[in-house]
Amino acid sequence: MRGRAIPLVLTPPKGRGKPPRHLADLSLAERLEAAKELGLPGFRAKQLSVHYFERLVHDPAEMTDLPAKQREELVSGFLPELMTPIKVQSADKGTTVKTLWKLFDGALVESVLMRYKDRATVCISSQAGCGMACPFCATGQGGLTRNMSTAEIVHQVVVAARAMASGEVAGGPGRLSNVVFMGMGEPLHAYAATVGAVRRLVDPAPDGLGLSARHVTVSTVGLVPRIRQLADEGIPVTLALSLHAPDDELRNDLVPINTRFSVAETVDAAYYYFEKTGRRVSIEYALMRDINDQAWRADLLADVLSAEGRGTGWVHVNPIPLNEVKGSKFTRSREEDMDEFVRRLERKGIAATLRDTRGSEIDAACGQLAASE
Ligand code: SAH
Repeated sequence: MRGRAIPLVLTPPKGRGKPPRHLADLSLAERLEAAKELGLPGFRAKQLSVHYFERLVHDPAEMTDLPAKQREELVSGFLPELMTPIKVQSADKGTTVKTLWKLFDGALVESVLMRYKDRATVCISSQAGCGMACPFCATGQGGLTRNMSTAEIVHQVVVAARAMASGEVAGGPGRLSNVVFMGMGEPLHAYAATVGAVRRLVDPAPDGLGLSARHVTVSTVGLVPRIRQLADEGIPVTLALSLHAPDDELRNDLVPINTRFSVAETVDAAYYYFEKTGRRVSIEYALMRDINDQAWRADLLADVLSAEGRGTGWVHVNPIPLNEVKGSKFTRSREEDMDEFVRRLERKGIAATLRDTRGSEIDAACGQLAASE
């Protein structure tokens, strides 16, 4: 395998027009200002925020505390339609639900809601497509269409929260507890929109959804300067780093951005994140048969993580059985190799949990989201 050099574009690509401005793009203070600009009293923006983030009501007809005359103006000014579901698939007895969304300009993204016994997690997209070109990932094959707006990112979560609250998901009414930025796209490449979305997710209602920051995970290929910047934002979300290889030679192929930021620099930035936030970092490692699943690579991974006197307590490794993507040469590791990989890490004191592959039969598992429609 030869590493492909990919240009790192840290500025968003120019799209055809911008997504409509939505309440979720703005802080509560900005919403009050925007209401005044529309000639409406500021407290109306607050009422709308309560509907959107707290009561999870989206139908203007149910917003009976708003005067009928202003309702339409408020709704068109603050709650424009951001996306329409064009395909909904479910699996795992209705506890996994994948939605394909069409955005205002026709761009397609997917999100996946997964309900477990003790929590419900939504996996969301941050970009339509992705520019990181990881060869084993379905989304990586199609290139980047565009970044999503803050509201487009947040709305996927709000819709999932509503689906849980209303009992649409098998298992009866419940609460959405977790968000992972592990759908389509590289969240730290869409940095401003991602951080805006994270703020909206953790800000208390009615400013935002009021989720616990610990329950929000931002997953990245390792854009080193952006990891450091995120650490300095002061929002203690969980960081997941998609490492997939402990050595530059292999990682240059599997995660092409590695030709820009080496394994050592990337792990260093992840450790900085831990130091600044106190949050244990998750290392994602998709196990690919005879590519990155050798026992010696597990040992090397443990050594790389604990090098520089970092120790082992700052990190948690999530080996993921590879989800096989149609037409790809990468295949899933043998069971015994996956087990040995985990054992080797544990022997060196590194916490490791093999991740599950929920939703794989509807192409809803990690790395399978590609909006093939
Ligand atoms: N751009 C972000 C989010 C991507 S998806 C990132 O790279 O972290 C979330 C995780 O799924 C990443 O760790 C990604 O490497 C992993 N992934 C991609 N393709 C996969 C596949 N085919 N099987 C298993 N995991 C995969």
